[in-house]
Amino acid sequence: SKAKLFDEKNDIKVTFKDVAGLEGAKEEIQEIVEFLRTPEKYTSIGGKIPKGALLVGPPGTGKTLLAKAVAGEAKVPFFSLSGSDFVEMFVGVGASRVRDLFKQAKEKSPAIIFIDEIDAVGRARGKNNFSGSNDERENTLNQLLTEMDGFGTNTNVIVLAATNRADVLDKALMRAGRFDRQIYVDLPDIRERREIFEVHLKPIKKSEDLDTEFLAKQTPGFSGADIANVCNEAALIAARNNKTAVDKQDFLDAVDRIVGGLEKKNKIISPEE
Ligand code: ATP
Repeated sequence: SKAKLFDEKNDIKVTFKDVAGLEGAKEEIQEIVEFLRTPEKYTSIGGKIPKGALLVGPPGTGKTLLAKAVAGEAKVPFFSLSGSDFVEMFVGVGASRVRDLFKQAKEKSPAIIFIDEIDAVGRARGKNNFSGSNDERENTLNQLLTEMDGFGTNTNVIVLAATNRADVLDKALMRAGRFDRQIYVDLPDIRERREIFEVHLKPIKKSEDLDTEFLAKQTPGFSGADIANVCNEAALIAARNNKTAVDKQDFLDAVDRIVGGLEKKNKIISPEE
């Protein structure tokens, strides 16, 4: 049997309510929900529905979450794959995967295709081309460009792609009719961190002394993913200490632990410091 080519989900429950903060990004991407819901409204007047948008921002800021929320809001299938899956692939496999993905999505349209880490396939062509593996990456990228050009304006498949390295992408990807819109998804500010805490504290039994403003103040530079981690870690710490609710100290311990982890990660990334 064939290896799994991509992931398909037909009943995404994520909506914009699950995405805290990111007001600007949500507002921009709301338009894509409208295109998926009522394409005729735009095409009957002669408009062309965009084929793709690029979600740009640091790791863990909610790009995948936002893409899922588009599918959840529009109630359309969500096809996803990661650019990094293409890196170690035999000749011809990457391109045929892309072809299959678009074929399936078109059959189920309206639909969303989400490509995480698009920079893994979408780096500028013709650079660092010393090994054969890059040829395969380029084949995959070319197939992606071909597919995006190939589907007509009535297809109603919208491709969302995520990256934290928009600067390395092949300019051909950003051309009109491809990923010609960029949506920025930044690290949360203090108010947004508070909102993210509120989302992730919901399922947790908390003590009276917990205050999201305090938690937001303790977590400068944290991404949404880091905050989700803090909440879970705090719950585990409380449970380990046989508490029935998570308190302020559990959160402070969890923040320390996550900060420790982040520092270690940064050391590995920049060993010269
Ligand atoms: P990467 O670039 O590493 O793939 P990403 O930007 O796609 O990261 P997500 O995978 O969407 O980030 O985020 C990881 C998790 O962090 C989410 O599933 C969610 O639990 C939490 N999270 C991130 N941002 C937010 C947010 N704005 N609101 C609520 N939860 C968030």
